[in-house]
Amino acid sequence: MTTTVRVAARAHAWSIHLRLLMVMVIGVTIILGVMASAANAASADRAVRGLLELPQQSSDSVTLDGQWAFYWKRLLSPEEMGKAAPDGFAEVPAAWNKSKLPGGRPSTNGYATYTLHIEHTEPGKVWALDMPPLPSAYKLWVNGKLLVSSGTLGTAAGHSSGHSERRVVVFQSDESSIDIVMQMSNFMHPRSGITKSIRLGDPDTVMHKRQTRLSLELFVSGALFIMAVYHFGLFAMRRNRRAPLYFGLYCFVIALRSLVVGETAIYTFIPSLHWVLAVKTEYLCLSVSLAAMTLFVRKIYPCDMSVAVCRAIVSVSAVYSAIIVLTPPTIFTHLLTYFQIVIALTISYGMYVFGLAIARKREGSVLTAIGALLLAASIFNDILYYRGLLQTGNYVTFGLFAFIVAQSFILANQFSKSFAQSEDLAHELKQLNYSLEQKVKERTQELESINELLSIQSLRDGLTGIANRRFFNDISKSMLDKAVQEQSPLSLLLVDIDYFKKYNDTYGHLHGDDCLKQVAEVLQEGAKAHGGLAARYGGEEFALLVPLGSTEAAELADELVGRVRALGIPHEASAAAPVVTISCGVMSYDADGSNYKQPPSITAMIEAADQVLYEAKNSGRNRYRVGV
Ligand code: GH3
Ligand code: MG
Ligand code: MG
Repeated sequence: MTTTVRVAARAHAWSIHLRLLMVMVIGVTIILGVMASAANAASADRAVRGLLELPQQSSDSVTLDGQWAFYWKRLLSPEEMGKAAPDGFAEVPAAWNKSKLPGGRPSTNGYATYTLHIEHTEPGKVWALDMPPLPSAYKLWVNGKLLVSSGTLGTAAGHSSGHSERRVVVFQSDESSIDIVMQMSNFMHPRSGITKSIRLGDPDTVMHKRQTRLSLELFVSGALFIMAVYHFGLFAMRRNRRAPLYFGLYCFVIALRSLVVGETAIYTFIPSLHWVLAVKTEYLCLSVSLAAMTLFVRKIYPCDMSVAVCRAIVSVSAVYSAIIVLTPPTIFTHLLTYFQIVIALTISYGMYVFGLAIARKREGSVLTAIGALLLAASIFNDILYYRGLLQTGNYVTFGLFAFIVAQSFILANQFSKSFAQSEDLAHELKQLNYSLEQKVKERTQELESINELLSIQSLRDGLTGIANRRFFNDISKSMLDKAVQEQSPLSLLLVDIDYFKKYNDTYGHLHGDDCLKQVAEVLQEGAKAHGGLAARYGGEEFALLVPLGSTEAAELADELVGRVRALGIPHEASAAAPVVTISCGVMSYDADGSNYKQPPSITAMIEAADQVLYEAKNSGRNRYRVGV
């Protein structure tokens, strides 16, 4: 691929990213909008001193927020109501320990009765009450009729247990007012009482709102489960890459948590789920999600996130997870505040890491940061919602959804990039193959023409039948030029028979000729095996040109010295060995600048090879030396 094409492809990829990003932001905004409108069809009418006056033109549904009459440490039945005076008025939604009663603030643990009188209701009308998931156990009566019972009410620790399930109940009121009596007890959770808004309204409207939220939550948690499975699958295929494992784990725990909180869809699947198990799951998911997300960010930005900070966060999560598993809700739920501080600090540090990644222009960092920002906003919202400072609802599932969408773009981008890379490589390989084929063709043609040339007798040595010096002079220069041009190596081997004068003197000239032939044949074979050429250079001197680098040429020289010796031609007069031996000087042009910085001339190579041949002679003959 050319640079222009690549730049264009990158620009195209970015324009896709921007468009997808816009779709994502719009999508999340719509989802949040729907959620917010579902959660906050705000009612301006608030209960005052235990009395709520419905507007004449009553809207489809109202939240029963405001002041409810509050009877501390009394579980009163609807019949007893007329006789008892309340201790004061408690704010709803809020934890009861936030209420200022004449006798001081109630403690978190304890039991109480709430009542609310609603005026101006149409007699005979059918109503629906949307009861939020409350960790306190409660019983709720409407106009003296028991409508909902959640958990086990009790007046002492061990006798009371909650059941945080969202419930919608439908009832008919024949009167023009509605009396709600709600007995509650809590000895386990740090937030007691009616901590979330109760909605009253037309059954269709209430059910519709409930169903909208439930469908959205199930849709998102289903998507998260699929993403978790997908990322676990990615990890299973490539175990050395942990990022998908951590990301999958994060998706999984958030998906699981979203079934337990909010619309509490888990009770649809497991109606008898014990409250302690549900609350442990909820807290454990939160704790594990922090560790998983931290490890994931560390994996995608290994150079931007500190290992020490990562370890510290994971350790805190591990300790808190262990506490959740091993201790009762009375202990671990009270520690949540500290863990939420850790979460807030981690998010702040995470933002710093994402900022760093953007500054260092890490791949996909902008998209990740936007996704993370939405996620962080949703987490902060959930913390504030949980603490009763906001009445918005749980949004972490949706924040995560935005983050995951951002991540999946990055993942898809990485995949498409590696695909483009492999395409590029395949293309290059094809080209290389083609040029290799061309080279082989050229070489074959060259060799054929060399052979043709050799067939001309004037270029052959009459005694040994190999190339003569004239031919060597003709061919050596063009072989070197070609090697320089193609950046391929070329080696020159100068070979001289040791004590050959003495051989002639001892065995006679005819035997000397015969010896020359045998040595020439060995050298010719050695050169041919590497696509090179051997020539008789002088009386008992030979020159070889082979397309090898210095290392391989040295190996060839060693082999030739050994093979001539192995011919075993007796040579009594030799001081080197009892048989005929050769000495060899090697000079190579490696073409990678390792020996000659500038391409040498053939004369310079011959001189250098002659010099090292001389060294081989002087150091005892029957050996080779390589010039550098
Ligand atoms: P060194 O080990 O130093 O090479 O000693 P050397 O005796 O081999 O070297 P020198 O150059 O002194 O002798 C080369 C001899 O090779 C001299 C000559 O008699 C012999 N020679 C040259 N051409 C031929 C040939 O065609 N046939 C025969 N039989 N001998 C030849
Ligand atoms: Mg000699
Ligand atoms: Mg000689």
